Amino acid sequence: MALKNQYLADLLETVKKRNPGEPEFIQAVTEVFMSLEPVAEKRPDLVEAGVFERIVEPERQIIFRVPWVDDNGVQRVNRGFRIEFNSAIGPYKGGLRLHPSVYLGIIKFLGFEQIFKNSLTTLPMGGGKGGSDFDPKGKSDGEVMRFCQSFMTELCKHIGPDTDVPAGDIGTGAREIGYMFGQYKRIRNEFTGVLTGKGLTFGGSLARTQATGYGLCYYANEMLKANGKSFEGQTVVISGSGNVAIYATEKATELGAKVVAMSDSNGYIYDENGIDLAVVKQLKEVERKRIKEYLNFHPEAKYTEGCKGIWTIPCDIALPCATQNEVDAESAKTLAANGCYALCEGANMPSTPEAIDVYFENNMLYGPAKAANAGGVAVSGLEMSQNSERLSWTFEDVDNRLKNIMKEIFKSCDEASKEYGMEGNYMAGANIAGFLKVAEAMKAQGCV
Ligand code: NDP
Repeated sequence: MALKNQYLADLLETVKKRNPGEPEFIQAVTEVFMSLEPVAEKRPDLVEAGVFERIVEPERQIIFRVPWVDDNGVQRVNRGFRIEFNSAIGPYKGGLRLHPSVYLGIIKFLGFEQIFKNSLTTLPMGGGKGGSDFDPKGKSDGEVMRFCQSFMTELCKHIGPDTDVPAGDIGTGAREIGYMFGQYKRIRNEFTGVLTGKGLTFGGSLARTQATGYGLCYYANEMLKANGKSFEGQTVVISGSGNVAIYATEKATELGAKVVAMSDSNGYIYDENGIDLAVVKQLKEVERKRIKEYLNFHPEAKYTEGCKGIWTIPCDIALPCATQNEVDAESAKTLAANGCYALCEGANMPSTPEAIDVYFENNMLYGPAKAANAGGVAVSGLEMSQNSERLSWTFEDVDNRLKNIMKEIFKSCDEASKEYGMEGNYMAGANIAGFLKVAEAMKAQGCV
């Protein structure tokens, strides 16, 4: 679908010319612009204030060399990124992705999405994202530590508890955050909440590990409730078996659903009796093994090589929790044909634009990532608050706040979709509600 609003259509052309070779970033901007057409019509003051032009241009882009020495004494070099996209409503905030597919376009798409997601949480956080093309898989602890120390040696010049507060993402879990925090503290000689997702012994928040997966299910639950449905007795397929997927599986099961499939980048398991999460946690969180090994514990389950087939498993609710563009139009059509009526995104931008069209054509309930997976950054915001007051809250306290935040996020998506004449389109609702708060702040702060 093409943009009808001429101003936004022209601006999108400029964005394409100015950011060549970055399809994921263009995809993210296009999706947001599609939703913002009625805003551009209704709010000429925001157009005049140049908000649309400014919001698609990162405030700062940092690219740096990350040299480190492997276990054989060989010098290796990776590329590090930090995109400080928008600080209108708070310090830059967003995770660090460590994956061989990382390049500027991926970090820019993630940073752009983060602006709206952070705004939706109602907490004062701007948008940022970073990472490296370093692959922690198959590396020793020593190699990961040397990489993280080298990465932070440069990154520490640009971040700070009131400036820019990174967190985890794909490939960056508690181990990596620990090494990075240690190096920051050593170089800067200060103990501050400069990173979130920290270990519980040095300023981490209870429930941060669970936050994105739990938050996803809280959001999905609100969406289901608003449409007369619930998780109770439903069959659920969840892609990925990392941080988000594991805790989405835990919460969906707690809410009465049966999760029958999970995956990693090699393939997927199907267990019609319901996934044994204790086994997945042991394999993934403790032993860092492949999902295939699940069969050693449950030989009755099935393993299939390749990721895409997971969407051919019949289910009521699908929760993609692995990576961008993992659900294409063909997979979306198969899901709908097999009776899947709701899809809620744990990963960032897991659906291609064509897949999203299929959801709407089939009247599926669609919970977009920037709203549905905002629980992680919301609890990161709560970790920042606890660090500032040098206190730690109980698990129940943080979990209750998370639940309320996810409820409020769903409410703002729902209300914005109604106000702008697109009832039930939570993607448009999320983009509009997230955008408006940042846009008002940018307008009020003048041309900066
Ligand atoms: P993890 O690294 O813990 O897990 C990622 C999972 O996805 C793994 O099972 C991994 O398999 C799989 N995966 C990664 N890349 C690919 C790929 N190219 N193709 C197929 N499978 C892949 O990451 P998270 O769980 O933290 O993140 C998952 C998604 O959720 C990402 O999109 C992330 O941006 C998003 N997200 C995460 C948040 C958080 O708090 N952690 C917050 C908000 C969003 P393998 O191990 O084989 O690589």
